Amino acid sequence: MIKLSQASLGSEENKCIEEVLSQKYLGMGFFTKQFEEKLKGYIGENVEVSCVNTGTSALHLAAQAINIESGDEVIIPTVTYVASFQAISATGAKPIPCDICIDSGLLDIKDAEKKITTRTKALMHVHYAGNVGNIEEVHAFVKKYNLRLIEDAAHSFGGNYENKKIGSFGDITCFSFDSIKNITCGEGGAVVSSDIKVIEKVKDYRLLGVKNDTEKRFSQQRSWDFDVSEQGWRYHMSNINAAIGIAQLEKIEVLKAKRRLIAEKYFNQLRDCPNISLISMDLNNIMPHIFPLRINASKRNGLKKFLFERGIETGLHYKPNHLLTKYKSAPLPSAEKFWEETLTLPLHANLSIKDIDFICENILSYLN
Ligand SMILES: *Cc1c(COP(=O)(O)O)cnc(C)c1O
Repeated sequence: MIKLSQASLGSEENKCIEEVLSQKYLGMGFFTKQFEEKLKGYIGENVEVSCVNTGTSALHLAAQAINIESGDEVIIPTVTYVASFQAISATGAKPIPCDICIDSGLLDIKDAEKKITTRTKALMHVHYAGNVGNIEEVHAFVKKYNLRLIEDAAHSFGGNYENKKIGSFGDITCFSFDSIKNITCGEGGAVVSSDIKVIEKVKDYRLLGVKNDTEKRFSQQRSWDFDVSEQGWRYHMSNINAAIGIAQLEKIEVLKAKRRLIAEKYFNQLRDCPNISLISMDLNNIMPHIFPLRINASKRNGLKKFLFERGIETGLHYKPNHLLTKYKSAPLPSAEKFWEETLTLPLHANLSIKDIDFICENILSYLN
């Protein structure tokens, strides 16, 4: 079976894990600190980084750190993983689903503008497939309505926007390092911001709200006599997970080149097919995470089945959240059409060019 997504692991990860095991402390400590420093080195010296156990908890703590709470509303594109929605509702606030632009899968700012109320506190901008979209427009929008901006960059780690690393600009950026993301920690996430107050809060919240416990743990101590003034969570990142992340970050350029090459091969072979629409990707800048194609809704499920029977796994990213019972809201036509027409093709660094040729041949043979 050609897998839709897969981690790319080697002896480097084994070596890092063995080092953690030999030190006999698997919880949050030296390796977590080191991974945070390396992430900062990679993204930019203007930001601070706080690592947590999942991308979902990164989003949750980012929202909590900017005082999102019950009674507040957060604007968000409906096409995203339910994790983004759950992170908002975990604070007590209400996620307000917005429509997307059908040719990118990214937030439709015009629709977002219609959803502004006096309760709107923030925008969660989702980097669907690894694309950031028109970030100047997003920044102008949050400025106009005096909103905080959380970027769900779960898909886009490793990418750039006009020569700036994703995470190095904007307000707060959250990454995921779950087992199938651009780089993995097994499970993991990070909150990145140049707003030091946000990062200080996240550092406390991830350790049950125990004040300044991060620094203690990084120096192999722990707090006995401490204070807690806010709700916290057990969301910190362990040494084991951080060690995997350290090994993965070392290989990012190789992993990125491979993902770009695969996406380019897909573009070359599928772009001229009259029945297929592809979302555009700036492959000189981004690190693509998934590869969506759109075909007529009447053919989509047939193509999925046809490919599966030939050993090719595909995905459906994503069921719009406003169609879920918990987040039910008025119709969002472009998102619903996108959901019915989109199929995502295998994209990960273990695929060979022969795999991509085989996938494209099968797609074209089905459509003819
Ligand atoms: C993976 C993902 C998340 C959540 O990250 P986890 O590490 O799996 O919790 C959030 N948003 C999007 C768009 C994702 O793809």
